[in-house]
Amino acid sequence: MDALVILVAAGRGERMGAGRPKAFLGLAGEPLLRKAAQAFQAAPSVGAIVAVVPGEEVQAARDLLASLPKLHAVVAGGPRRQDSVLEGLKHAPHGFAGVVLVHDAARPLVEVALIEAVASAAEETGAALPVLGLVDTVKRVRDGRVLETVDRSELGAAQTPQGFHFALLREAYEAAFRDRVVLTDEAMAVERRGVRVAAVPGSPRNRKITTPEDLAWAEGVLAGALRP
Ligand code: C5P
Repeated sequence: MDALVILVAAGRGERMGAGRPKAFLGLAGEPLLRKAAQAFQAAPSVGAIVAVVPGEEVQAARDLLASLPKLHAVVAGGPRRQDSVLEGLKHAPHGFAGVVLVHDAARPLVEVALIEAVASAAEETGAALPVLGLVDTVKRVRDGRVLETVDRSELGAAQTPQGFHFALLREAYEAAFRDRVVLTDEAMAVERRGVRVAAVPGSPRNRKITTPEDLAWAEGVLAGALRP
């Protein structure tokens, strides 16, 4: 399989409180974007990488990723995550008809095994994503008051990479934009078309880096001092 990965890294990372967009912050001496890209470079199912970054970082990202043989394009993203994904889809290799994986560069510790599991489930079923079960008891809360305890056995947290047959995701995205739907992940675009999405087991290591504490956690995991 020669899957295409769209690596979205065009967020401002405001919750990080750093001077530079999150994907360019260092983790064990390497920017998050490069760490994430290396995982896809190492994944046998992946054939091409499109990185989507803030407009003013396009050249810096090209330099950063130039040594990765699978790099296909580095393009500027948009104001919302879904706009950035759309830009990535537009820059797929001409005539591409395989599996597309969309991944947050903010999840730099993604394992090759997880990438392979999503890619093969997506190839087989059309749409797949990793879901991590919840360990805490879940409450529905409004205005500081607990309304109810929710049965967590059927709940899970969606991760990336999320994988799809390319034509399916492109059509679902076109429909979502036409209908002005705000998407929080790619699977949502496909779900609302009535298409089934397969869930593969997610990974605690594949956590999204959002705050300085998350970055410190990732440093600890890489140093072998922390277990994910
Ligand atoms: O903001 P959040 O951490 O949820 O973003 C998830 C991923 O989407 C990040 O890798 C971020 O860079 C990317 N993103 C993007 N374009 C945006 C907003 C977020 O590529 N406009």
